[in-house]
Amino acid sequence: MENLAHNYHALRDLTPYGTKFLGLVKADGYGHGAVPVARKLEELGADYLGVASLDEAIELREAGIKTPILILGCTPAVYAKDLLHYHITQACYDLDYAKALSAEAQKAGETLLVHIQCDTGMTRLGFLCHESCMERTAKEILEAVQLPGLKAEGIFTHFAQGDTSEEVTMHQFDRFLDILKRVEDLGYTFSLRHCANSAATLLYPATYLDMVRPGIVLYGHLPDASMDPGLCDLRPVLELKSRIGTVRSVPAGEQVSYGGTHTLTRDSRLAVLPVGYGDGYRRAFSNEITVLIHGQKAPVVGRVCMDMCMADVTDIPDVKEGDIAILYGSDERDEQSVEMAAAIPPVTISYELLVTITKRIPRIYL
Ligand SMILES: *Cc1c(COP(=O)(O)O)cnc(C)c1O
Repeated sequence: MENLAHNYHALRDLTPYGTKFLGLVKADGYGHGAVPVARKLEELGADYLGVASLDEAIELREAGIKTPILILGCTPAVYAKDLLHYHITQACYDLDYAKALSAEAQKAGETLLVHIQCDTGMTRLGFLCHESCMERTAKEILEAVQLPGLKAEGIFTHFAQGDTSEEVTMHQFDRFLDILKRVEDLGYTFSLRHCANSAATLLYPATYLDMVRPGIVLYGHLPDASMDPGLCDLRPVLELKSRIGTVRSVPAGEQVSYGGTHTLTRDSRLAVLPVGYGDGYRRAFSNEITVLIHGQKAPVVGRVCMDMCMADVTDIPDVKEGDIAILYGSDERDEQSVEMAAAIPPVTISYELLVTITKRIPRIYL
């Protein structure tokens, strides 16, 4: 949790005084536990929290989180009652949806907070902001924000290539500024204009506007392995560790685990770890990854099973039951990092490995 606070402050130091901060805690806080992370962010002074779904938002409210929460994904309008009851802000991504939310809010006799979502090139959700239809879209947004029962507190867009293409990102940003200006010229101003995800928060201060909206960097990881670690001093928040279940001696020539994909070339000692793909420790890591035991690397040999895997500790003296094995370390530049694991084919990103650590792994907060 210290590292979470460190990352929060490091990111806040990048943004000018007065820029608001929305911390993403979707997908159970990127696998770290949404409630403890949200509590910490609330204590640190985050202005907003972002989630993907109504259930995620309700989980935070039920846990006593008071900070404003924005749902970035789709919530069927029939659940507007829950949005109102729990004081949750909803992304509003087209005019029909705005009308449906407005109708529900009026039925309840209350005002629902929304943030207008603009599709400037992500092609996922949002009012389409394309050069061919800017004028029409501006009118639609104006119509949406004037609907009874809705209060459009904010407007935002999402970058598709913030980490890899300045050109695409700036094109998206230009479209966003264009639509903002058009809606403002029609007479409506938003108090929270936001678009900077992690990559843009690190790379493009011009995109900060009223609020930044970082996710992965809060947890201490870069959005893309190709990005310069010198951009911000980030510290991984999570370490994945296991205790060795037992250590066994096995003669040369034996094959290890399902499918016999590894044959022992010498008399060996194997540490059996109670971690497998049922915990989110990918089967693709079989014979490709190492774990750290007593500060030394032990190769994972044979297939990773659902509940267990085997590490060859023949070269590490005095390994015994109960010793700690580090699977994902907390030094991003270290070879025992999530990034290293993500680079193992089929290549993925740190995000996916973090959010797929299953609930069987207890989260312990320090
Ligand atoms: C997930 C998400 C973010 C945060 O993305 P990171 O790359 O983790 O910073 C920001 N905005 C939206 C709309 C998102 O879905």
